[in-house]
Amino acid sequence: MRATASDAQELKRILEVYERASGQVINRDKSSIMFSPNTSHQVRNSMVSDLSIGFEARSERYLGLPVSVGKSKKRSFEYIKKKIWSRIQGWQEKLLSKAGKEILIKAVAQSIPTYAMSCFDLTKGLCEELNMIIARYWWSQQDKTNKIHWLSWKKLTRSKKKGGLGFRDLHLFNLAMLSRQAWRLLTSPNTLCGQVLKARYFPNSDILHCQPRAGISYTWRSILRGAELLKEGIIWRIGNGENVKIWEDPWLPRGSTRKLVTPRRSCLLTRVNELIDPVTGEWDEQLICDNFWPEDAAEILRIPINVHMEDWPAWHFDPKGLFSVKSAYKVAVTRRDALTGRDGSTSGNVNGGGDEFKWHKIWQLKVPNKVKMFVWRLAHNSLPVRRNVANRGINIDTMCPVCRRFDEDCGHLFFKCKFAKLCWRLMNMEHIRAELVNCQSGVETINKIWGFDRHIQLKVIVFLWRWWSARNKVNEGERMQSANEICSSVCYFLMEVQKLERNAMKQTAVARYSWKPPPADIYKINSDGSFDPSSRSGGWGFVVRDSSGEVLAAGAGNITYAASSLQAEAIAVYKSILQAARLGMTRIILEMDATVLASALKSCCVDRSAIGGLVYQIRDIMCDDFSCCTVSVCNRSCNKVADCLAFYGAYVLFSGSEVFMNQVPDYVKDIVLGDLPNIV
Ligand SMILES: [Zn+2]
Repeated sequence: MRATASDAQELKRILEVYERASGQVINRDKSSIMFSPNTSHQVRNSMVSDLSIGFEARSERYLGLPVSVGKSKKRSFEYIKKKIWSRIQGWQEKLLSKAGKEILIKAVAQSIPTYAMSCFDLTKGLCEELNMIIARYWWSQQDKTNKIHWLSWKKLTRSKKKGGLGFRDLHLFNLAMLSRQAWRLLTSPNTLCGQVLKARYFPNSDILHCQPRAGISYTWRSILRGAELLKEGIIWRIGNGENVKIWEDPWLPRGSTRKLVTPRRSCLLTRVNELIDPVTGEWDEQLICDNFWPEDAAEILRIPINVHMEDWPAWHFDPKGLFSVKSAYKVAVTRRDALTGRDGSTSGNVNGGGDEFKWHKIWQLKVPNKVKMFVWRLAHNSLPVRRNVANRGINIDTMCPVCRRFDEDCGHLFFKCKFAKLCWRLMNMEHIRAELVNCQSGVETINKIWGFDRHIQLKVIVFLWRWWSARNKVNEGERMQSANEICSSVCYFLMEVQKLERNAMKQTAVARYSWKPPPADIYKINSDGSFDPSSRSGGWGFVVRDSSGEVLAAGAGNITYAASSLQAEAIAVYKSILQAARLGMTRIILEMDATVLASALKSCCVDRSAIGGLVYQIRDIMCDDFSCCTVSVCNRSCNKVADCLAFYGAYVLFSGSEVFMNQVPDYVKDIVLGDLPNIV
């Protein structure tokens, strides 16, 4: 508000109305007032007395967040830096393994700023400083030696699948948190906050089309930065198509742009509803094929529509169409890597060789975390063997600390050093050593190891790790363990690992499933879809049975356009429930083997998945046409009749459908009999 007497009067009036309506009284002693810096003392004083609020707020925090973010963002958020700094200082004294540090960093240090990040853009500069504090802690050694950052922070923030450790890039995470605010405003525009912001900043459009202007608040500016990221993943689901622009809006569930590839040229079509036949409420196939390239046309025809609804937004990168900070963060990281990979400074190293390496296999190894971390560092060639340390410009004697005869690099230490060779022989693995000795890099070595069978794989990895620990002891001036000691510790360790595994195996019991008939007076409908990803077409099938297992109806049909097996499953449910309604059934159980679909049908929330339109149609029929309609999930082995019918629809019927009453075609008869409870 402006600092004028009339604005003060108006605010007072609003507060009085609130007090009368709610019966609550505002405590003016606990209230404070804030002025912009150019407000004169005279005005300040008169405002304070007009509003009878005595306190002036100065760079205070309310509920843990800064009340106002001034020109210097750095100063406003300084407290976050201090907090992380002091937390990490507390950990310095503890001797923690890399695996332990990983947990502390992920669970504590990186979550300290999340609260502020959900409201403010902490700025790239500050986030980078925080990253540095954390990186320094990660690479700090317990021994006084050195503080080399063996890998860039950017590499550590890649997912474990891509060779990183899944640490957060704080700035990108910040943007992902802000995009959640934008998503909320987009999907719940009727909240009080949503209405106020809309009236103030975008009365005639939506948040996706709102541009930052001079003079807007820092919070709002921050949310708009989140909206930028949100746009990278938004997709429109088609209801009546009135609000979606054919050429500009993302609405095709395909690729990264989610837009048409057909060039517009002089085409007069503008909105999606123009592509829908007003009589049938279905796509106008002819019009679509005439105006768009075949790949666009086929994609459009696969989109389910529901003309009784408005179009609604969804998040493209989630199968259910729901936004999550995690998913938005992934999108931001992918975008960062694509941008930096292209600038040439990294000479393709970002996406080269290392990407094909199966990093995830490291984390799937059945060994303790510290061993995995060791393998990960070996693969990156980031173990502090002496040659590597010297390569980082540190003046150090590069002689192998074990044999004192050759330079120590990973090749020498693990495969050529005469003491290591002794161990390999002692474990009957000389032939394995011979295969590994000529590898040129960590990645190549580990790749070779992945090629061995599981038992050897584990033995090699555990040995390398024990050997590394023995080397570290010598490096720190302790006694060298004998080859016998090392080898027996490897065997002991492997035995322990196998014992754990056997116990886990015992606990997975084998269960048998069979189809169960419904209770009396209720009909059970099993349905299933079949989908062929190469032609992107499929089939549907269903069977209706009563409490004795008798077939009342069955059906099968072909699906010309489908985008996923889930869509085929949903079409199958739709066809079956239509048939049941036509037959006048009122109490039914819909049984399917697709868990995702079943929970979508059971839910009453907004469905933002790609098949949302279909889900709504089914939910409507469920409510309108049946007095009792439940959805249940079954194992695939209980759904064989429907599965077989769907297969028939996809591959035998080339178009159209067939419905069978009171009997089933010969080819599924045996399966129906097999489902009957009393036949052995
Ligand atoms: Zn040596």
